[in-house]
Amino acid sequence: MVLSYPRMALDSLCGRPLGRKRICRTFSDCTNGPRSGLRSGCFPLDPAERGSEDAEALQRTKAQARGGSGRKP
Ligand code: SF4
Repeated sequence: MVLSYPRMALDSLCGRPLGRKRICRTFSDCTNGPRSGLRSGCFPLDPAERGSEDAEALQRTKAQARGGSGRKP
């Protein structure tokens, strides 16, 4: 949860509505990245990580594992 929504506790303590779209949905990219030699990050939900070099590298790795090239059509 710290990766996907680091301000969750602050939002809660301040009485702000929770950003439900930032709550971890266990896509596991944060653990699959390091298993592939990449750094960890919440690539699907963290706007700062989405589209990063490591996010794209992980997408290619996952596509190759599925038998594809990992390139966008
Ligand atoms: S990558 Fe997936 S499992 Fe990891 S913090 Fe983000 S949503 Fe949760």
